[in-house]
Amino acid sequence: MNDSISNYLRSHIRTVPDWPAPGVQFRDITPLLQDPTVFRVLIDAFVARARTHKPDVVAGLDARGFILGSVVAYQLGVGFVPIRKKGKLPFTTVEETYELEYGSATVELHTDAVKPGQRVVLVDDLIATGGTMMAGKKLLEKLGGVVVEGCAIVDLPELGGSKKLREGGLDVFNFVD
Ligand code: AMP
Repeated sequence: MNDSISNYLRSHIRTVPDWPAPGVQFRDITPLLQDPTVFRVLIDAFVARARTHKPDVVAGLDARGFILGSVVAYQLGVGFVPIRKKGKLPFTTVEETYELEYGSATVELHTDAVKPGQRVVLVDDLIATGGTMMAGKKLLEKLGGVVVEGCAIVDLPELGGSKKLREGGLDVFNFVD
């Protein structure tokens, strides 16, 4: 990633200490979304990256992945599918449970969200432990989707998520460390 774009995006992400729990440094992207110029720079960068993979579908992870992924899909002229926390999707679903630091979480995807062989770019705001993105990849693969890349604004490499995702067979890309 071009350093000046990376620094520009980073300067619009706010770190909120001890939220939602003590010890967590929460990376808040709302200042970035709020500024139309920097939001456009971000989306243009996402779109340029995603376009190289010629996806059939963009999938977004609940909830900030929806904000980003739907705009990227619109710009690419492809469909958008939401991967949601359990209990929110009305039609038949596949589900995947994964471990969090304390406890576990379950995400769901509609069974008709992708067709076998469709190429999918997976979008979220941030990769921490990588558990959420890996669960998304597994869900899409249950339906026969081919996840060509996981793309996030921020990676927290010290948490090892992106390394684990790559070792698990998912190429990942981020704009800010
Ligand atoms: P993980 O599954 O551990 O990679 O966590 C990634 C998911 O949790 C993403 O959907 C993020 O929105 C959220 N998340 C985890 N840690 C943070 C953080 N420090 N700041 C902002 N969002 C976070």
